[in-house]
Amino acid sequence: MKPSILNYTLEELETLLTPKFRAKQIFNWIYNKRVDSFEEMQNIPKKLRNDLDLNYSIYNSSIVKKEVSSDGSIKYLFKLHDGHTVETVLLRMRDTQYNEDGTIKHLPKYTVCLSSQVGCKVGCAFCLTAKGGFVRDLEASEIVEQILHVYNDNGIESNRRVNIVYMGMGEPLDNLQNLAKAINIFKDPNGLSISPHRQTVSTSGLSSKIDKLAKMDLGINLAISLHAVDDHLREKLMPINRAYNIASIMDAVRRFPVNLRKKVMFEYLMIKDINDDIESAKKLVKLLNGIKSKVNLIYFNPYPGSPFQRPETQKVKKFQEYLLSKGIICTIRESKGLDISAACGQLREQKLLGEANDTVR
Ligand code: SAH
Ligand code: SF4
Repeated sequence: MKPSILNYTLEELETLLTPKFRAKQIFNWIYNKRVDSFEEMQNIPKKLRNDLDLNYSIYNSSIVKKEVSSDGSIKYLFKLHDGHTVETVLLRMRDTQYNEDGTIKHLPKYTVCLSSQVGCKVGCAFCLTAKGGFVRDLEASEIVEQILHVYNDNGIESNRRVNIVYMGMGEPLDNLQNLAKAINIFKDPNGLSISPHRQTVSTSGLSSKIDKLAKMDLGINLAISLHAVDDHLREKLMPINRAYNIASIMDAVRRFPVNLRKKVMFEYLMIKDINDDIESAKKLVKLLNGIKSKVNLIYFNPYPGSPFQRPETQKVKKFQEYLLSKGIICTIRESKGLDISAACGQLREQKLLGEANDTVR
């Protein structure tokens, strides 16, 4: 298989190609005009097009499954060059804006949830991705391809405001180099021009790697999957907590450079009768003391055979009210795409189960 040209930032392409300006032209063909072959790059000399074609590919993955939810969210399953699969979700919200004459216009607001690995090493007890174990890191190009497929499939123009969350399959900080490359490729004004301020990296809390990420100074937003407020419970839910306990995560967050107008997001997965009580909310308030933070409460999304249950709406609301009463910004993650097996890893797992059944039959 040929390596994908999507692995290169513009600067890297510029060092690779002479004359240098060819790099910008190629970037434009790929990210703005979205061609899928070098042949179509009309202003590139035939010889260079042939050379590129001999040495590189553009797309190495394809859509194998797509589920559209009643709320307009779309979940994709992509097949990679080696047959492994990863998921990507397009979330669509309505954004109300005003025309110059004061009339209202509704534009879709897009958030794309990207995967960073096939499987995951972290092994959280509640997560379906963890069940299949770890397979491999995604290349930068495979992270980039996810978004290009979503743009192409939905006719999204390159200059549209799109948010990226690295909350799909895998632990992004376990694949830091490729993640950083993808972030830089996305932000390039000659390409998709997605500002790092609109990109959020979600981590299970690898403290030492949060420090590494901080040093890279990429300008992205940070989200921490906290899910528990004491180490004992967190170790049960997330075994990684033995290596990086809550205090170490909080220290790393305090060291993380946060944009003046931004806050670190703490994700809190609410699991019925496990961590959905007001005592936990009280402890959470104490933990967040002195940190510019906001909290996102997530309903545990059950799957066949899952050891936990979805919490009651009342409990989640009470938890939220408590945090709000203490002056902490707290949102509840909308159950977007619940009817499309929303939690990470579920579409892939279904496909694998389906394939297993096929062979049995
Ligand atoms: N590995 C990173 C990013 C990917 S997981 C991390 O853990 O932060 C993205 C989010 O999905 C995490 O907050 C995770 O806790 C959540 N998640 C995993 N399984 C879930 C489930 N069954 N229901 C709801 N959210 C889930
Ligand atoms: Fe990995 Fe995140 Fe799933 Fe934990 S929740 S196993 S870190 S993908």
